[in-house]
Amino acid sequence: MENARLLQAVITTALDGIITVDSSGMIERINPAGLKIFGYQNDELVGQNVSILMPEPDRSEHHQYMQHYRKTGEKKSIGKIREVIGQRKDGTQFPLRLAVSEVQYLDRMIYTAFLHDLTREKETEEILKKYTGELEELVEERTKSLQQMLTELQQAKEELHQSLEKEKELSHLKSRLVSMASHELRTPLSAMQLSIALIEKYLERSERVPVVKYLHQLKNAIGNLNAILNEFLSAEKLEIGITTPVNRLFDVLKFAEELRDEMQLISKTNQVITYRHTGSERQINLDQYLIRHCLTNLITNAVKYSGENTVIEFSTEITDQQYLFTVKDNGIGIPENDHALIFEPFFRAHNTGNISGTGLGLSIVDSYVNLMNGEIHFTSSLNQGTQFTLSFCKTKDETKDTLQTPSINTDFTY
Ligand code: ADP
Repeated sequence: MENARLLQAVITTALDGIITVDSSGMIERINPAGLKIFGYQNDELVGQNVSILMPEPDRSEHHQYMQHYRKTGEKKSIGKIREVIGQRKDGTQFPLRLAVSEVQYLDRMIYTAFLHDLTREKETEEILKKYTGELEELVEERTKSLQQMLTELQQAKEELHQSLEKEKELSHLKSRLVSMASHELRTPLSAMQLSIALIEKYLERSERVPVVKYLHQLKNAIGNLNAILNEFLSAEKLEIGITTPVNRLFDVLKFAEELRDEMQLISKTNQVITYRHTGSERQINLDQYLIRHCLTNLITNAVKYSGENTVIEFSTEITDQQYLFTVKDNGIGIPENDHALIFEPFFRAHNTGNISGTGLGLSIVDSYVNLMNGEIHFTSSLNQGTQFTLSFCKTKDETKDTLQTPSINTDFTY
């Protein structure tokens, strides 16, 4: 008796809901906590089917479930702890933890349901979930902006490194140019000094022939000086990246003929520069200033590195696809071992002896040709002469124009 009272007290004061249900699903007892959870009075529930505490579709299916259980003994809730949804008297639904146990009492079965309202826990869980989500988003955002900052930093570092490298190269080139200039400019300057002294001397004696001869030498020395200074200037401009080709149509025959005549003036005794053009077209679309600089350099080299009484062949060709320029001489040639380095700034082959030069010309030609999207090729061997070829692909429009013109292969030789 004492025990039964104690048990009753425990049930009455329990914080979780406790409901006993008979085998047909009728509520027999419910403790105060259970009533509070569902918002009912005791007599509103006792005698009612327990499904009243469930929302749809569980409410309608509960009867069937009980029948199925009685027939087969298959359990859904009994003996387990599950999370389910309950429905209060006011129709609101809430999460609850349900544990149902089966009790054999005298000659019948009683089912006891222990119910714990999970509303608070679920709310806390939701808040936690929300915070976690927000935190994850924040972390993701921060990571992204950190990554962005890192990439930007990396980029800035690379740019800084590149500009430092460029600066280093530039200052290296400048110091080489300065030392090269002091060395290379001395030759034409002393030639000029000597010519002037001799001109003065022969003028005093009123001898005309040697005066003309030394005037010619003076002119040559000035030309050399000018060429060297131009080379330095071009190299520096290229290095700081301010050379940009400007293509314009020009008559290649007229251009090349003038160049040939000009170059003939600086040639050695009995050196002849021939010119020949192949192709029906005469118009070329390139940067005339840059191409002139390249050809002047190639022909000057041909003159410089071949002897008196030789022929230098200068030719141009316009095909359907390309513009070609060739300069060929029979001079000292370039030793095979030096071929790989020939376009490097300041490089001079080992067979140049006392022929003066800066080693800058070909590197500038190479850069100019690259700027114009062309290619430079050469064939040369020791004492067997040298041939340089510059080739430039026509643009689509230029190719079309050529294809429309009837192709008569006309050679112009001078
Ligand atoms: P440089 O002022 O020395 O002539 P370049 O850059 O024009 O400088 O040429 C680089 C080197 O290539 C020359 O020093 C020379 O050794 C070699 N070279 C260029 N053109 C010829 C040529 N036509 N015949 C022989 N060697 C040549």
